[in-house]
Amino acid sequence: MSAVGYSLARHPYAPAVRRMQLASRDRLAGGFVRVRLTEELPGELVGFVAPGAGDHVRVLVGSPDGGDVPVADQGAPFRTETVVAHDAEAGWIDLDILEHGDRGVIGPWAARAPMGSPALVAGPKGSVVMTGRPAQWVLAGDDSAIPALRRYLALLRGHGEGMLVLESAAGLGSSELAAWGLEGLDGRGEVAASIHRPLPDAPGAALVAALEALPAPHDAAERFVFACAEQSIVAPARALLGRWGIDVERAVVKGYWRREG
Ligand SMILES: Cc1cc2nc3c(=O)[nH]c(=O)nc-3n(C[C@H](O)[C@H](O)[C@H](O)COP(=O)(O)OP(=O)(O)OC[C@H]3O[C@@H](n4cnc5c(N)ncnc54)[C@H](O)[C@@H]3O)c2cc1C
Repeated sequence: MSAVGYSLARHPYAPAVRRMQLASRDRLAGGFVRVRLTEELPGELVGFVAPGAGDHVRVLVGSPDGGDVPVADQGAPFRTETVVAHDAEAGWIDLDILEHGDRGVIGPWAARAPMGSPALVAGPKGSVVMTGRPAQWVLAGDDSAIPALRRYLALLRGHGEGMLVLESAAGLGSSELAAWGLEGLDGRGEVAASIHRPLPDAPGAALVAALEALPAPHDAAERFVFACAEQSIVAPARALLGRWGIDVERAVVKGYWRREG
């Protein structure tokens, strides 16, 4: 039997909700807004960790025109965002938030809420931490997964054989990819990358088709798969893991958002 070169450990954390405020915004290519949230009071981020490449928090914000956060009850409209970078000691967290026109809660807030607007940040509920590195890896996602894809790429590039499949509604030129921190993925770099336009009214379908066209692994225990995009990819991506002989616990497959209607 061949040696298994990587493992994923899932670490749960005690629930924590922190009071933060909007401190800066930068517009990135592809409809992303990078927001920096800083502590409302010093010490709010004590104990905050997000070591896993896909670690995420739930964020509750008020109106994009400014104003209080709604009461954080069971039905409160928390939105889930990947932790792009953080420094608990210095008291900040960075999130890259995709705008969907003027729709939604957190996109408009990220785009135009006044500086100082409050935000509640819950979590991370846990981390998925990789130790070792796989001989082969497949990173697949849509635009909403770019923050996590970028963190996984930073971890995996230069180790083993990499394949990246991106379904992107945004601009696809080299400069846009570089602006997302995905430089060298235009088919000319060392990672076998393919970028697909979403099919009208079927987000995720092009991603699934591209994933299904990948070669099966020689050694299932040595292929790591991350596949996160619109909810409809979950069932076919899990079925593909089954056909490839990959244990779902050694992969990350998630619905990141849900198409309406
Ligand atoms: C673990 C995890 C990590 C995530 N990390 C990030 C991240 O780092 N950055 C990020 O931008 N998103 C991320 N997402 C996705 C994000 O949580 C959803 O896109 C969320 O719906 C955004 O909330 P909203 O208030 O902008 O829109 P909503 O109020 O939820 O939706 C408004 C409208 O926009 C549509 N919509 C929502 N999301 C998308 C999308 N991605 N593409 C196209 N249409 C959409 C909805 O169908 C709806 O019609 C992550 C999700 C998960 C589960």
